[in-house]
Amino acid sequence: MSKLIIVSNRLPITLVRKRGKLKIQSSSGGLVTALSLLENQEKSIWTGWPGIALSHLNPEADGIKKLLKSNSYHPVFLSKKDIEDYYQGFCNEMIWPLFHYFVQYALYDKKFWKAYKRVNEAFCNEVMDVADSRDTFWIHDYHLMLLPKLLKERLPNAKIGFFLHIPFPSSEIFRLIPWSEEIIEGLLGSDLIGFHTFDYVRHFLESVRRVLGYEHTLGQITVKNRAVKVETFPMGIDYEKYSGVLNDKEIRERVQKFRKKIGTNYKVVLSVDRLDYTKGIPQRLNAFDVFLKRNPKYKGRIVFILVAVPSRTEVEHYVMLKERVDKLIGKINGEHGTIGWVPIWYLYRSFEFSDLAALYSIADVLFITPIRDGMNLVAKEFVAAKTNNKGVLILGEMAGTAKELGEAIVVNPNDEEKTADAIRQALEMPEKEQYLRMETMQIRLKRYDLKKWASDFMDRLDHINEIQQKMNSKALSSKGRRNLIKFYTKSKNSLILLDYDGTLMPFNENPEKVKPDQELKSILRSLYQQKNNQLVFISGRNRKTLDDWVGKFSNGLVAEHGVWFKDGVWKTIEVLSDGWKKEIHPILEIFVDRTPGSFIEEKDYSLVWHFRKVDPAMAMVRVGELKDILLHITANLDVGVLEGNKVIEVKNSGVNKGRAALYWISKKKWDFIMSIGDDHTDEDIFEVLPGWAYSIKVGFGPSKARFNLRSYVEVRTLLKQMVGA
Ligand code: UDP
Repeated sequence: MSKLIIVSNRLPITLVRKRGKLKIQSSSGGLVTALSLLENQEKSIWTGWPGIALSHLNPEADGIKKLLKSNSYHPVFLSKKDIEDYYQGFCNEMIWPLFHYFVQYALYDKKFWKAYKRVNEAFCNEVMDVADSRDTFWIHDYHLMLLPKLLKERLPNAKIGFFLHIPFPSSEIFRLIPWSEEIIEGLLGSDLIGFHTFDYVRHFLESVRRVLGYEHTLGQITVKNRAVKVETFPMGIDYEKYSGVLNDKEIRERVQKFRKKIGTNYKVVLSVDRLDYTKGIPQRLNAFDVFLKRNPKYKGRIVFILVAVPSRTEVEHYVMLKERVDKLIGKINGEHGTIGWVPIWYLYRSFEFSDLAALYSIADVLFITPIRDGMNLVAKEFVAAKTNNKGVLILGEMAGTAKELGEAIVVNPNDEEKTADAIRQALEMPEKEQYLRMETMQIRLKRYDLKKWASDFMDRLDHINEIQQKMNSKALSSKGRRNLIKFYTKSKNSLILLDYDGTLMPFNENPEKVKPDQELKSILRSLYQQKNNQLVFISGRNRKTLDDWVGKFSNGLVAEHGVWFKDGVWKTIEVLSDGWKKEIHPILEIFVDRTPGSFIEEKDYSLVWHFRKVDPAMAMVRVGELKDILLHITANLDVGVLEGNKVIEVKNSGVNKGRAALYWISKKKWDFIMSIGDDHTDEDIFEVLPGWAYSIKVGFGPSKARFNLRSYVEVRTLLKQMVGA
């Protein structure tokens, strides 16, 4: 039976040592709830760190594994050094600040990177202990960005989803990481990659393009012939849990208790965050200070309850932040407070659910203004808990939640004046307006709740899997391969039409460097020497290169995408003119000047603008511009514009590979024809082949070919098998 394997840095439990004995302490994070709510839930196993430093070689490790197994948890043990370098180092002192745009805080330490790789590999090994290729994997968050690739390498057919719970930064920021390539490659091992907001999706796709050069179509990237989908899934909350808080007697009692302590004369402004530099707490305090200065009538009539949950207390920037916040609160309370009234109630600790729920219930205003935040669940929880629809949310625009909760008063957290105004606006908002805003937000949160979020992700993972299977359905199976070879060995007259670049050889930034290697030469020599064979190369290359590189293994050659063909001697397919070149060449020259990395290749009857080395984002713009100009200019010339693999080619119209192929096809009565090619110039050949011929496209994507092979490596294997048979 297949399973769902969840992988996250932390297990949803913590192992604690009490009087020398290890005990399990469970924590009910959002993710646990999400998964328990999934319908048709498969058997699931959760893999992650159980929260204590322990080497996997420790004699206690086996016992812990057994203890956790009964709860369907599978632990990954981390040593003290792993925790220091991987978790506190790479994750918390590099990825966390950088992904939240605190570039100046990021430490690029090689030791941290090594630990990150090591721990991701350790996770992979542990996952493999419980996994099988039919399982579905859902990997969570920035601690495990290398894991998707590691798993995909070991289980190529497994379904792998990844979700990032923090922001994905602009490519300009992401590119600062010295290991950006490895991280993107790691993530692209997934079949589905999810982010909270469309902005993060956009940033990720742009980083993929800039770092690895892969384009995307509507968020779908083709990575080594596998489709990877990138989508938005704004994480929801367990709506029922928060909207039902007042049904709970214990919480109702707590509300009354808090109310009594606070008194009924005060309006309550609440904020709840971990004490993290991304949360904008000092800026918020300054805004509150400005508010009190500008609105003295609220003095003695308002309390600001600031819950700051201790976090990463061993990291220097957090220590400094704590000092700054302590001081600021002291200053504001000292300046504005009176005997009997303290404006800010500062609670430096964490609260359990029922206390938090009671605070949500009491608060008139929730004041959440992060400088940068992946989502911010507190804002959503507050909205859900406001069952009487009274209450106002002030939300910083840099929180992922702001994209969904537009009915909040949305502020720029750095604008202290406007944020101060927002507090007054919130306190003075008419009840009817509060009601309308709350209701709209609640409807949205109720629909896309935690369960919907998780099931939506799983559905999309299944969907991309179906797309991949469709892509693979034309793959030349081993049975298809055997049939092909049987046909071939029986044939008396076989014609083999081969493209060169991308089909027999991989691409290179410098096209001159793609000379046939020893292996290819040996395959082609053997194929050429076989009886009953006619071997023809049909390429976009010029005559000389093609002849020099593969001439001696061929019965015929076609160069420049069908302009020239050699059947004994070189001839053009018809009388052609190259007069148009002097008009087009200067235009291409301007494009070369304006587009670093591009160059012109001149052939007898065609001009090619190559852009493989150009920044992909820039190339996209330039290709559009160039095609526009060329189509305009060539309207009155007898030439066509053709887009190939990272090239734009201008050549005489009516000349194509298909026309050249027809010359060979109609020469004889063949009983076996095979044509292999990789880009859309080869489609013209596939189109003119008889229906029974073997047309094979290298790579996936729409094609008229009957079959697919993954890469030039698979082409070589097939040719070797044909020779061997
Ligand atoms: N939370 C809690 N006790 C507290 C403060 C917060 O249980 O004292 C919970 C809160 O209910 C929310 C989560 O911690 O579910 C914080 O999530 P959020 O996305 O707001 O911030 P993060 O800490 O993940 O950056």
